Amino acid sequence: MISAWINDLMKLTDENWTRYAFLSEPLVNRISPEKRIHYSRETALNSIELANEIRQKYSKISIAYLVEKLEINLIEKVAQDGGGFSMFASFEEPNVITVYKDISQATDKLIDDSGLRETVGNVKTIDLLFYHELYHFLEFTRDDVYSTQQKVLVWRIGPFKNISRIRCLGEIGAMNFSRELLKLPYSPNLFNVLMLYAQNPVSAERLYLKMLDVKEG
Ligand SMILES: [Zn+2]
Repeated sequence: MISAWINDLMKLTDENWTRYAFLSEPLVNRISPEKRIHYSRETALNSIELANEIRQKYSKISIAYLVEKLEINLIEKVAQDGGGFSMFASFEEPNVITVYKDISQATDKLIDDSGLRETVGNVKTIDLLFYHELYHFLEFTRDDVYSTQQKVLVWRIGPFKNISRIRCLGEIGAMNFSRELLKLPYSPNLFNVLMLYAQNPVSAERLYLKMLDVKEG
């Protein structure tokens, strides 16, 4: 079942994934569909440039090496028991990246056991999680990251106005950045279904259907 789902998700296009990312954007109604595609493309291009810059600047692309060079505080945790949706990884300012080791190991095993290794390729889940969070670290530490520069006017009353970042661009950037560093021929979004499936197949099915739904939109 999971392998059929993954094969379905591999067929989604970049525009489908843009639509998916904007499903969780609080400001979605203030941004036209054309603008969403524009922001998403620019974010992807910038995150790919960033990945190439990292690759050129550092001789090795590995967690241990980048943690040392970029002075990141990496915490490897075990997720709490109890099933349901737990976090896979997170970034906390200024330099803390947390990854859940048991979930990433269970996901690697799921990929092997369900015959998905050839489809997914020789990628370790923990690398994908770390590189995703590394992008959020770069968003925080640099001032030239496109996804943090784009702002939308939320409201204006007389001389007062409130402008806000477009949060989902950070996710689009992190996905494209990790995809580029690992040279994946598909969106890392589908790992969210794999990671969830390894813990809770029912929640994973819900997420799979939500992702598949953007095809129609
Ligand atoms: Zn993220």
